[in-house]
Amino acid sequence: MKAIAVFPKAKEVQLIDAELPALTSPTHVRLQMLDVGVCGTDREICAFQYGTPPSGSDHLIIGHESLARVVEVGPQVRTRRVGELVVPMVRRPCPHDHCTACRSGRQDFCFTGDFRERGIGGAHGFMTESVVEDERYLNPVPEALREVAILVEPLTIAEKALIQLWHLQERLPWQCPHRPGKDHGHCRRALVLGAGPVGLLGAMALRARDFETIVYAREAAPNEKSAVAEAIGASYVSSTDVPPAEIAARYGAIDVVYEAAGASKVAFDTMQALGANSIFVFTGVPGRKGPVEIDTDLVMRNLVLRNQMILGTVNAGRDAFEAAIRDVAEFGRRWPAALRALISGRHTPEEFRELLLGRPTGIKHVISFAEN
Ligand SMILES: [Zn+2]
Ligand SMILES: [Zn+2]
Repeated sequence: MKAIAVFPKAKEVQLIDAELPALTSPTHVRLQMLDVGVCGTDREICAFQYGTPPSGSDHLIIGHESLARVVEVGPQVRTRRVGELVVPMVRRPCPHDHCTACRSGRQDFCFTGDFRERGIGGAHGFMTESVVEDERYLNPVPEALREVAILVEPLTIAEKALIQLWHLQERLPWQCPHRPGKDHGHCRRALVLGAGPVGLLGAMALRARDFETIVYAREAAPNEKSAVAEAIGASYVSSTDVPPAEIAARYGAIDVVYEAAGASKVAFDTMQALGANSIFVFTGVPGRKGPVEIDTDLVMRNLVLRNQMILGTVNAGRDAFEAAIRDVAEFGRRWPAALRALISGRHTPEEFRELLLGRPTGIKHVISFAEN
C-alpha cells in the first residue's frame, strides 16, 4: 500500500510501498484512510527537525490529521461498525503506572513524556491507505461531514483550550448576563494570533460562542484568510497596520488571547492588550531562534495587578474531539462557504513532495487516499 514516510537517518522523504498492517488484537479496527491533512508539524518532520520512527523501523509514516472509514472490525469490537466514518486521536498513553493522566485516558496531559503520537513520534501515522487502530481511539463522525471532517483534528486544539477556559474562568464571575439568542461569550472580546488553519478554526469556535473576535496576522488584507475572518463575523487586522501596542487602544481590552502563530515576540508584545481577569492561551510551538527582548516588568505587573493568567495547551482528549465534531457541523450550518474555503486543495499521494517540502501556500491542503 502507498504511504508517505520520512527516513530521518538518510534524510529522505519518500512515497513507499508499505506492508498492509494486520489486526493483532480482538478490539482492532481496520481503517481505509480517506483524507489526511498536511500541517506545519508534518513539514517540520520532513525537514528532520523531529519525528521518531517506531522502534526497529528506519522510517516513520507521517500524518496525524485524518478522516477514515471503518472497513473491518475485530471479533470483540463493540463501539464501531463497518462503514462508519471516524477521526482517530493522535496520542497514545505512556506505560507508567504512576502517570495518573495516561491511566485515566487523558494522555493529552501525560506527566512523563513517554507517550507516542501517531505520525509524529514512536508510531506510524495516517498518510497511507490502510491503518489498524484500537476502537478506543476512534471518534465517529456523521456522514454529512465527509467533505469537511478533515478539519476536526486541527480544531481539537481550540476545543481543548475552550474547555479549559470555561473551567479556569470559574475563578471569578466571568459569565456573561443571559441574552436571548446569544451564546456564553457575547460580552467578551477575543484576539486570535495567526490566521493559519488552527487560528481560523479557533476564530470560528470563538465566534460560534459569540465572542467579539479579532484575527491578528502578519499578511495585509484583503487575502483568502481575511475573507474567511470577515465571513464569520470576525475582524481581520494585519500587524503591519496595527502594532501590538495599539491593539487595546483601537479595539478595547482583550479578555482572551488564543495564540496560534508560534511567534514568541509578537505573542508577548500582545500581552499588553490584555484586560482585567483575562487569559492568554498559547498553542504554538516556536523554533528556538535565540532570546528576544520583552518588558518583563510590564508583563509581571499586569499579570498581578489585573489577575491575568497564561495557559499552555497541547494535544486533545476525547471531550475535545467530540466538541470539534459537533462544532464542524455547526460551522457548516453557519458559514458553509467559509468552512469549505479552509480546505485549499485535495491532492494525490504522488504530489507529496510539493506539499511537504515546497513553499507553504493556501490554508489547509489535504492528501486523499480514497474517494469514499
Ligand atoms: Zn497538525
Ligand atoms: Zn503518561
